Amino acid sequence: MANWPYGPFIILVTIQVFYVDLVPKTTTFDPIICESLPKFNTEIRQQIANISADIQKIIDYVVNGPDSGLTYKELALFVDQFGSRFTGTANLESAIDYMVDRLKRDKHDKVYTENVTVPVWIRGKEWAQMVSPRNKPLNILSLGYSVGTNGSVLTGDVIVVKTFDELKSRSEEVRGKFVVYNYDFKSYGESVKYRGQGASQAAQYGAIGALIRSVTPFSINSPHTGMQSYANNVRKIPAVSITVEDAELFGRLAASGINITVSISMEARMDGEAVSRNTVSEITGSSKLDEVVLVSGHLDSWDVGQGAMDDGGGAFISWRALSVIKKLGLKPKRTVRSVLWTGEEMGLIGAQQYAQQHINELSKMSIAMESDIGTFTPTGITYSGQNTTAQCIVNELLKLLKPINASQLRIGSEGSDIDYLMDKGVPGSSLDNRNDRYFYFHHSAGDTMTVENRRDLDLCTAVWAATAYGLAAIDDQLPR
Ligand SMILES: [Zn+2]
Repeated sequence: MANWPYGPFIILVTIQVFYVDLVPKTTTFDPIICESLPKFNTEIRQQIANISADIQKIIDYVVNGPDSGLTYKELALFVDQFGSRFTGTANLESAIDYMVDRLKRDKHDKVYTENVTVPVWIRGKEWAQMVSPRNKPLNILSLGYSVGTNGSVLTGDVIVVKTFDELKSRSEEVRGKFVVYNYDFKSYGESVKYRGQGASQAAQYGAIGALIRSVTPFSINSPHTGMQSYANNVRKIPAVSITVEDAELFGRLAASGINITVSISMEARMDGEAVSRNTVSEITGSSKLDEVVLVSGHLDSWDVGQGAMDDGGGAFISWRALSVIKKLGLKPKRTVRSVLWTGEEMGLIGAQQYAQQHINELSKMSIAMESDIGTFTPTGITYSGQNTTAQCIVNELLKLLKPINASQLRIGSEGSDIDYLMDKGVPGSSLDNRNDRYFYFHHSAGDTMTVENRRDLDLCTAVWAATAYGLAAIDDQLPR
């Protein structure tokens, strides 16, 4: 259908799906290159040594001192009260109001919001049922931006494929059927293309809907949602995630030559636009206040679960980093800014707008840090900048985190919201953590406070506060 009323968003949606397809490449940093850098070895090493006592103070304060357990407590209070915070909902805006008040109570020097126009997608009621060879309810979640079934029940036979190549080779069997994607899960980066493009690929051969195996290595019969996008030239057909168990069931039945029929009903639809907000707060720099170290996570979440892991943890260690710096009376030279993004799950909308609107200050943004791949036990950070001196500075600073075993530096970036800033030349950094279980819970009803751990959140807060403070406290911004 041609009348997509959200022209500006379609490009952005496409970009997002493209981004997450790319498996980030990172390499472990080799400090040998630092030995041949004269200024680093004389001046900068000394600057970092001079702030080592401050870094230790941060660690002690957060991990074993007065703030021990506080990030967990604050996050629980927030996600237990507000639950999921889906883009375009009044509940997300109430959660943002709460955060503004919370940041003001912690006396951040500046607290403000920046408006962001977001598209509104409504899930509505949805159900699906296998009706042949037997009746069995299917746990489904419509995928973001999916169309619904227009008030009727859509019934059809199923074709099960493992790959887009198989879909293409069997394209003549597809017309009038639901396509079930039962790919072999290898990694999120490799598998998410079926979620992102599965409906469009199926629609081009005349499918009536796409049922996509949830993108997860682990399942207890829970569907995992996420965003998908329609290509310009295809009919928009309903797109839902199904559980790993049901995808495999379909796979086994089809392999035995048994015909499968499914019925599905979905109210999913677009509903215009709404105004949301990025939530910003700052500790103003003592001498280089126009230079910025940015820490961030997204406040919005999917509409299932509590968004405690994705990305409550990342958002909360970000603003808590500023609170810790403030409470300890530390005075960084440059400004430390926390941004709690909005509209991430529906296509990095808040972050994209931020990068556009702040384009003139990006040359003075020393680093853009983002935590959005879990706040499990931290191991260090990634750094995307290619300048060797900058890499050595970050590595030297991370050595001060040895007491909490979070000194590892990897070169590259995981990114997502900070992608737009990195595209414009700002070095990016992600929080590295032991997140093997991240995709167990991601975008599912299982993303609740139960996934989070008190001590891990303390350690992540300490890494975030120490890194942000350290990079804001040294004499010069990171060279590019
Ligand atoms: Zn996220």
